[in-house]
Amino acid sequence: MLQDSFNRQIDYLRIAVTDKCNLRCQYCMPANGIDYIKQSELLSYEEIERIVSVLAKEGVRKIRFTGGEPFLRKDLSYLIKSISKIEGIEKLAITTNATICIKYVDDLIPYGLTDWNVSIDSLDKKRFETITRRDEYETVIDCINYLKADPRIKLKLNTVVMKQHNIDDIIPLVELTQNHSLSVRFIEEMPFNGSGNEQAELVWDHKKILWHITEYFNHVNKIPDPQNSTSFNYQIQDFKGSFGIIPAFTRSFCGTCNRLRMTPTGLIKTCLYDKGTFNVKNMMRAGATDAEVLTAIQEAIRYKSKDGFEADKKRRGGNSTLLSMAQIGG
Ligand code: SF4
Repeated sequence: MLQDSFNRQIDYLRIAVTDKCNLRCQYCMPANGIDYIKQSELLSYEEIERIVSVLAKEGVRKIRFTGGEPFLRKDLSYLIKSISKIEGIEKLAITTNATICIKYVDDLIPYGLTDWNVSIDSLDKKRFETITRRDEYETVIDCINYLKADPRIKLKLNTVVMKQHNIDDIIPLVELTQNHSLSVRFIEEMPFNGSGNEQAELVWDHKKILWHITEYFNHVNKIPDPQNSTSFNYQIQDFKGSFGIIPAFTRSFCGTCNRLRMTPTGLIKTCLYDKGTFNVKNMMRAGATDAEVLTAIQEAIRYKSKDGFEADKKRRGGNSTLLSMAQIGG
């Protein structure tokens, strides 16, 4: 079992398979993008499988594939299928921007990939294009409708709330949950936008988002939050679906954190806000055994920060700049 010094069991690994993306979302990347990682610096699929096998023996049960846009990594389906066969892995999930994934859906569901999170920050074409700096609105909506139509899929829509861009989308997004069992999650904006600038303050925090929704809908019911959940969940009376609010900048959910992250280059992060602990790819390429890899990961988890504030403070103390979310994997 992987446990930190706060008795939090780590059983969920988020794997960023690429930093490449075909969108340029304002809260994630500068308009001219980022310097993409060289192919030789990327973790290979064999290396990813090896790390997952090592961690599955130690209690990791859930894997989420992220990016950048994960489907931009060549032959991603091969990796997902092989990870699905690793003993101990019980849950597979993916976070995608839904611009290119529609052709992979039916092939991957039988391998257990039923948890699909789609990033969409506006239901308005013009606002969507302003936020993403790309003209992919129709493609994304088509893919969302395709995923909505499949009862095997647990669909979540992730929306980063930005005061200058999409406040007018909050209510229409909640209204999507009236006739469909999907979950819409509103995420506080975070400072991982590739500018390296620290985020001073947050206007639209989880409290203001909830207030905005309860001002509009009469009956907003609190519903139970799943174990280790980062979102606080609610349901409008008589609506089929639900909405959640993720205080990602406020960081009021760290007490039950069960997450470990691995960046596309193999940097192990025990917290979204830390600067990374060590590079497992370099270790493996230097000839480390599985036992040595495991010991290094256990050591990193032993020193996992109490919460995102402590991790952020340590990062700043190390003068490490903030990466783009595409380089971390969310
Ligand atoms: S901010 Fe860090 S400690 Fe808190 S939940 Fe996220 S990853 Fe875990």
